[in-house]
Parts: sequence; C-alpha cells; structure tokens
Amino acid sequence: MNVSATVPVNDGHRKALAWIGSGPGKLLIGGQWVDARSGKSFETVDPATEAVLARIAEGEQADVDAAVAAARKAFEAPSWSGISPYLRARYLLNIAETVEANADELAAIETLDNGMPLAMSRARVGGAAELFRYYAGWVTKIFGRTDPWDSSGFLYTLREPMGVCGQINAWNVPLATAAIKMATALACGNTVVFKPAEQASLSTLRLAALIQETDLPPGVVNIVTGFGTAAGAAIANHAGIDKVAFTGSTAVGKQILMSSVDNLKRVTLELGGKSPNIIFPDADMDQAIKAAVGSFCGNSGQVCSAGTRLFVQESLCDEVTERITGIAAGYKVGSPFEAGIDMGPLISDKQMARVLSYVDAGRDEGARLALGGGRVGSRGYFVQPTVFGGVSNDMRIAREEIFGPVLSIIPFRDEDDAIFQGNDTTYGLAAGIWTRDLSRAHRVARALKAGRIWVNTYGPSGAIMTFGGYKQSGYGREQGAESIEAYTQTKSVLVKL
Ligand code: ADP
Repeated sequence: MNVSATVPVNDGHRKALAWIGSGPGKLLIGGQWVDARSGKSFETVDPATEAVLARIAEGEQADVDAAVAAARKAFEAPSWSGISPYLRARYLLNIAETVEANADELAAIETLDNGMPLAMSRARVGGAAELFRYYAGWVTKIFGRTDPWDSSGFLYTLREPMGVCGQINAWNVPLATAAIKMATALACGNTVVFKPAEQASLSTLRLAALIQETDLPPGVVNIVTGFGTAAGAAIANHAGIDKVAFTGSTAVGKQILMSSVDNLKRVTLELGGKSPNIIFPDADMDQAIKAAVGSFCGNSGQVCSAGTRLFVQESLCDEVTERITGIAAGYKVGSPFEAGIDMGPLISDKQMARVLSYVDAGRDEGARLALGGGRVGSRGYFVQPTVFGGVSNDMRIAREEIFGPVLSIIPFRDEDDAIFQGNDTTYGLAAGIWTRDLSRAHRVARALKAGRIWVNTYGPSGAIMTFGGYKQSGYGREQGAESIEAYTQTKSVLVKL
C-alpha cells in the first residue's frame, strides 16, 4: 500500500496526505526551506503499512553550521533580542492558535509517521497548543531581583537567555516533545536549532511550516532533519551552540554530555526509564489494574515513563496477573486510524525486533509469559500486549528499558520491600503508587527516587507538571517552573551610587 491508496478518515487526514505528497522534507534555515547541502535525503516510513511516506533532507555538519549561524543572527537581532516580553508572548500565543487551528492535520501527520492511534495524537496536539500557551504566560514573569547591598551601591540580577539552543528529539511523542522544547526556549528569549528524530520528522516539519506562517522572525526556529551520528552529533559538538536539550536513550544522552565539554554548553537530558508501579493490597483494585494496563500499552509502550515494572503484594500476584492479562487481551491492536483502536504499531522494524528479543530474554531467564509475546499480522510493526508473571527484579526484562508493550509483574513482601525493589534500578523517571492509606501514599512518594510520582493514577501530564529524571533518567527538568531556569542564566549587576 502506498500513501495515495490510504482512504482519509477526515478532512485533517486528507490535508495531511496532500501536504506529505507535496514533498515537505527540507531543512528550515534562516526562514528558508532548503535541501541538505550534500543533496542527500532519506525515507520516512508509515510504521502501520511499511509504505514510504516521504523523503527527508539528510542534514549534516555543513547544514548545522548554517542553521547555527542563522540562529545566532536571529538571536542578536533587535527584532528578537530587543522586543518587549508582551510581543514575545504574543508570538507564542500565535503559534498556539495555529497549532489548534490545524490540529486535525497535525494529528494525522503524527499518526501516519509515528503510528500512534489518531485519538492519542489528537490529544497530544491539543497538549502542544497548551504548551505554547503555558509558556506564553511565563514570558512576562521571568524576573530578575534586587539584592541587598550597602548604601554605596545598588545590586540587581538579570535573568537572560542562554543564546542558541540545540534541541535533539526522540520519535515516540514527536510533536508534543518538540512543543515542550521550542516553547520553553522561545519563552526565555533563545533561538533554536532543532533536530527531530529520523524515524518521525514530519509533524515537526509541519509545525515549523505553521510557525513560518506566523510573524515570528526568521531564524528564531531552524530545523535540521537527519541522523543522530551526523546532524545530531554536529549539534552536540557545535561550538556556536550554548545549550543542548536532548530526549532519547541514556546511552546517547551520556555521549551528548561528553560532547558538551569542549565549549561547556549547558545540557538537559530527558532519558530512559524502568518505572515502578506499585499496587498495595488496600488499593482500589479495579482502577489500579485498568491503569496498569494503560501504563504499559499506551503508545505501544513507547513512553519513557511507562509503568513497566508492576509490583504487586505477593499474595495477590496470581489474581492481579490474571486480571491484567484479561484486560490487555481485549486491547485492539491495528490501524491507528481505525476508531476504537487501543494500540498502533511500533515505530520501526528495528524496534519491533528489539521488543521481541526481550520476549525471548524473559523466557530464557525463567519468567512466565502470561500473555502475548508475538507480532500481530505480517505487515506493519504491530506487537501484542505482552505480560510476564513471576519476574524477579534482577532479570533483564526488569532492568532494561524495552520501549514496547511488555509488562513485568514482580512480587513484593511489604512496604519496605516495595520501596527497596522500586528503587533498585539505575533509572528514576517516574513511579506509581496505589493505596487508600494516606500516610503510606506520602511516605512512599517521598521514599521513591523518581522525578515524577503518581498516586492513585498513572500517566497524566501537562505543561505545568515538571518532568525529569533522578539517577540515569536525566539531567535537569522540562515543563513547569524549573524549565525556565534550564533556559536562562543569571547575571548580577552592581552599580556604585
Ligand atoms: P532511540 O534509541 O529511542 O532511537 P536515540 O537516543 O538513539 O533514541 O535517539 C534520540 C535522538 O538522538 C534522535 O534524534 C537521534 O537522531 C539522536 N542521536 C542518536 N545518536 C546521536 C549522537 N551520537 N549524537 C547526537 N544525537 C544523536
């Protein structure tokens, strides 16, 4: 099947196909859409059909150099650095409005390129608009201070932008994470060289085209598509970039940090996770079990904060495993454009092979495969919801991030044991706690070493809710108030009176 054979489900889908058909895979540098200097391009594939969607410009060092030069020029231009915060807020509000006005098209592009169910991508596009709106609110509230000094002088603090920000994104929730990164950078007065993930660049390119149609000055947002080892590494190493924000694997995150050393660029990293979701015996079991399934199947498990280690009090393990598999077995896996679908495909054949290799690893280490474990169909990268019972926390399926719909159910004895095992991981991105005991909820929330804790729920997010990792899940924070600090620096000014 090729794109033209796809029957659009709505007007946004129709527009998405028309836009993709127009050949949009160029770089955005200094307000101009251009081919890669090498002339090279690569294919992006619809993971549900394996059809080639479009060719994308393959940016490399020379393209990143040009984008950094454009971003520097825009950063220093009075049309960006000299404007009032009200105008900067207005630019962000305009972007929010254009995202919302084109939400159905953006959602369809996301679903075509990434494979997430259409209802989910539509919700994420709504979230992206909210992110721009949330950060528009910050623009007029980024304060310096006056500091105490003696009567001979006057001391104050300015909070200033970092400069040119390189932003390297992952493929799992491309538009929403692009919105987080761009909105924060712009709110603080920075300019951006953005690299989407090579597996799913299209929604970012469409976002950039929509931003182009607003009156944001050229060069404030630049997009360089391409591969990690070329375009990504060029951004990470670039002496003209002041800060890098990265979302992706822990292994690459560590490389980004090492690359930052030369010019000491500031770095924020949003990395992997192996998050514990703990169901205590006094929990509302119906809610906990339903949410537990959603937390490992949502977006086919391609979520860094997915609750992939489910801790259940040992006497309840058999019952909970049975109920989890009962619900997960009813999940509908199929075309992400089909109404009522629960899970679309994984992003790529490589990711599917990786996920299935962990099913073998779980079996080999003696875990009990209670559900799934296989591919669905022979076209598209669909994998069944997969549940392992009888997992111990030292097995690979409990220690390594799989990034697929694979759940490990692990028994615990008591509260201390749940906390110990929950924390016994190199990661620390998120955690869930299910209990009706108020004291226990707060006690365990304090004891778990993770950047985000959900109590009696799992997964809700929002611009206002800070996100980031303890331990090897990351460096710094995105969203919420802390993100402003990550995109600004302070300067103290002493004036002799
Ligand atoms: P995943 O394993 O989920 O694909 P990666 O960490 O490999 O995650 O990729 C996340 C992002 O980092 C992508 O945009 C990718 O192109 C980029 N990337 C990969 N390798 C490098 C690298 N060596 N330097 C900079 N960016 C990279």
